Amino acid sequence: MTIKTLEPRLADVGGIPIARLLPNRGHQPIGAWCFLDHAGPVEFGEGETGMQVGRHPHINLQTFSWMLNGEVLHKDSLGNEQVITKNQVNVMTAGTGLTQGISHTEQSVFPETGGSSDAARGLSMVQLWIALPTDQQIERGFHHYPKLPTWREDSAEMILTTGSYISVSGERYEAPTIQYSKMVGIDVSFLEDGDVTLNLEPGFEYGVLVTEGQIESEDMVCKQDQLFRFHDADVSNNSSIKLIAKKGTRVMVIGGEPLSNKVLLWWNFVADNKQEIEQSIIDWNNGHERFGDVDSTMERLPAPELPKGFKG
Ligand code: MN
Repeated sequence: MTIKTLEPRLADVGGIPIARLLPNRGHQPIGAWCFLDHAGPVEFGEGETGMQVGRHPHINLQTFSWMLNGEVLHKDSLGNEQVITKNQVNVMTAGTGLTQGISHTEQSVFPETGGSSDAARGLSMVQLWIALPTDQQIERGFHHYPKLPTWREDSAEMILTTGSYISVSGERYEAPTIQYSKMVGIDVSFLEDGDVTLNLEPGFEYGVLVTEGQIESEDMVCKQDQLFRFHDADVSNNSSIKLIAKKGTRVMVIGGEPLSNKVLLWWNFVADNKQEIEQSIIDWNNGHERFGDVDSTMERLPAPELPKGFKG
């Protein structure tokens, strides 16, 4: 199998280091996973407010939040308010088409601002978007998953964040997480120096994000905040891949079946055509009811216009 190592685009958003791995120049989504940010790891000082993301909309996608450390309060236009903490998943579904859409806010919380009494003063979070299949009529929604299948395999602890997984020894695991296309997400934490062999599903595309430490596979090295991308053509029947790492290394494996529709991204919008993005910019900036309202005093982020040369 051939592997490519993708480099992150690094940014600093309000004192939080962000590594963006998807979209990545010249590379398509991995299955339906079309956006991937790793926020942190970072420690906040006393008096610092942490992550503060004001009201903004989404269309034709699910936001998928995977927490490694810290606590974040999610509020959305459906009236949901949910604190997410480590080893938990939040999935918010924007729905498909011009009658759907959702808006939300995200903010770090600490013991004194609505978090739990032992909330960390730090943050490490993987924020992903899943493009929705636009040939399905999908309604908006929100789901919180506090407990996920967890097991020991080789040198690692595995947490199945979405989808199903059959280990090399034949054990089958299934996550409760809502899906609209076939995909998988597995968090792998190395409990000792060693390796773990991942079973790969035929027809899936795969990537591995290193959130802590570094891994080695097929004589290639992937460091923290880099992304291994396995070429889909190389994932043949019954194939597997071995990841080698030292104790303390942590990675997130993502995979899935590619969607049959186009996946265009602009700002917080995903669509299979340019017109739907243009209409959604107008709708959001004019307060259209399809995006609802969030019960929050946080600022409302305006949608920037599409650049002239945007390819639809
Ligand atoms: Mn968002």
